[in-house]
Amino acid sequence: MFRFFSPSLLVLGLALSLSSCSNRLAPYEDLLVGQPAGEVPRPIGKEVQITYLGTNGYVVKSKDSTIVIDPYLSRIPMREVVLNAPVESSPSIVREVAQLAAIPKSIDGFLITHGHFDHLFDVPAMQRQLGGVIIGSKTATLLSEASGVSRRSLLPSAPGKIYRVGKAKVRVLEAAHDRVLGRIPYPGLIEGPLPAAPARPKDWRIGVPLAFLIEIEGQRIYVESGGIPDLLPPVSGVDVAIVGVAVKDSQKRYAGAVRQLNPEIVIASHQDNFFLPLSKGFQFSTLSDFPRVIATHEAEALPGKLVAMDYFHTLTLK
Ligand SMILES: [Zn+2]
Repeated sequence: MFRFFSPSLLVLGLALSLSSCSNRLAPYEDLLVGQPAGEVPRPIGKEVQITYLGTNGYVVKSKDSTIVIDPYLSRIPMREVVLNAPVESSPSIVREVAQLAAIPKSIDGFLITHGHFDHLFDVPAMQRQLGGVIIGSKTATLLSEASGVSRRSLLPSAPGKIYRVGKAKVRVLEAAHDRVLGRIPYPGLIEGPLPAAPARPKDWRIGVPLAFLIEIEGQRIYVESGGIPDLLPPVSGVDVAIVGVAVKDSQKRYAGAVRQLNPEIVIASHQDNFFLPLSKGFQFSTLSDFPRVIATHEAEALPGKLVAMDYFHTLTLK
């Protein structure tokens, strides 16, 4: 059990365990957007809805298409992550969340930014329930295949590829992963079929990180999970930019990324403590620094309106 023990993960675990339980979104009320997903009528006409699932998870829905991005719902407790203990996705949590987030019974596809457990862990279980193709790196699709997803549903991808997912056009973009305490966590590529399903947190290897541009009903939505200051998003002029700001690297990159994207709306993403169950509600991770993101946005007069979203809340774009 301790064979995979990692000292840096222990430090990360201890740092995160010191996070305050009252560290919620309430102080940012003026930045909060969206209504509880269950109270929002289905999209009509050219409406596009974005629903937040926690961590870097989102649902993008139009009247006839649904795309799910990086859903992480089962929430492995920190102790299991630190000990690299055997873990399994919970089909009942996945079902509950699908209901809470008003996800249709069948969807068109998943976009996966990278193979880490907090982005891919629940995708195989969710795909079994809702169908849809999985667009991700070769590593992410091989992890999904080893977890029981049919090869027919897997689209191993790379920057430059373009897909039709439902009525949406999805462009795959270059991205980088931010360093956590100076290191890229769980590095490595998976190049061929795995002999067994990934069973422990460390089995979910990063692979090649990706970002996406989703074009749907006239809206351009950019999504990533963070990055490094040296690599800015390769697109500009978007309606919504979902920009990861989980750790220092991506917080440092925030101004450059937003200036480059020149969006109407910026959703600062991946800020919550994903070691806690979703049922505990949104709590900031200690590595997040939303006050710094807000101060940067103001001080640098960045384009777009910076917003925050609570779990299972839906923002409607018209
Ligand atoms: Zn990651």
